[in-house]
Amino acid sequence: MTRTPLFNRVAIIGLGLIGSSIVRGAMALGLATELVTTDASADVRQRAAELGLGHRIAGSSAEAANDADLVIACVPVGACGAVAKEIAPHLKAGAIVSDVGSVKTAVLKDMAQYLPDTVDFIPAHPVAGTEHSGPDAGFAELFVNRWCILTPSEQAAPEAVERLKAFWQALGANVETMTAEHHDLVLAITSHLPHLIAYTIVGTAEELEGVTESEVLKFSAGGFRDFTRIAASDPTMWRDVFLNNKDAVLEMLGEFQEDLSKLTRAIRRGDGEALFDHFTRTRAIRRGIVNIGQDAAGADFGRPHPHLPPKDDGKS
Ligand code: NAP
Repeated sequence: MTRTPLFNRVAIIGLGLIGSSIVRGAMALGLATELVTTDASADVRQRAAELGLGHRIAGSSAEAANDADLVIACVPVGACGAVAKEIAPHLKAGAIVSDVGSVKTAVLKDMAQYLPDTVDFIPAHPVAGTEHSGPDAGFAELFVNRWCILTPSEQAAPEAVERLKAFWQALGANVETMTAEHHDLVLAITSHLPHLIAYTIVGTAEELEGVTESEVLKFSAGGFRDFTRIAASDPTMWRDVFLNNKDAVLEMLGEFQEDLSKLTRAIRRGDGEALFDHFTRTRAIRRGIVNIGQDAAGADFGRPHPHLPPKDDGKS
């Protein structure tokens, strides 16, 4: 269903999972009169043309940003500064500039240094994704019922924040505004640390002596395979996340190590009560996530089990 466009010209720079999902959603909903897209990679631009990702595919970020009303950099966190530097001389006065990076303080600093005062700079982070990357991985519904966090710069006009909020809401997202520093702390525990733990466990299993790799794979349904989905996430993206959210991740890692020590002690001492109490509290967190609609209640992450009778997917 198309609607009245929210922007005249929108430029999407970077056509991977997130950029191509925005383009697919914005095209399907008619959120821009003209969608101009680009990517640093000629192969990706070629594939984007085949997939129809945009009304026009520009040869460079500068060309894409030219005369755009909204520019969104959908590139790895470490590339955001370079994109801002390239597009800065081509931005028209009154344009909104944003990004989708998973870290906000570093992106705010890296991009703001190049952007002119005549634009409204509003970093954003859609908290939605999969372990896949590239232009084929995107889909229009990726942001539906997910949260998008805006961390506006001090100079950004409230009207511009409202316009960007309307764009994300049209894509199906719920929008919340907070400071970049607070975003980085919250995401360190809800996203960055879980990824670090998954990367660690999967790496540890690979290097184990005494347990063969084929045993790890064969018996992975015991829990391991759920970590492997997260540990399959894009290496460039996650390298940049840890390099750019160092302080918050280290702070959360400290808390985590203390809690791990407590559980280690409980196991060593045979303190069943401490273990039971802890596991009861964590089970409530999972139920909370399901209850607010951020995951389905189906058993085993909703994996199909055709040999079993269908389960009710309603809220527990
Ligand atoms: P992706 O699928 O790897 O796509 C990124 C694209 O940007 C690639 O095609 C890449 O080209 C291109 N690119 C890199 N540097 C560029 C530059 N300087 N100019 C133009 N294009 C450039 O990554 P993604 O998953 O969409 O992630 C993009 C951003 O979204 C990241 O900042 C990430 O933190 C954030 N994010 C990701 C998720 C997620 O789950 N994946 C969720 C929320 C937010 P090359 O391949 O040639 O380098």
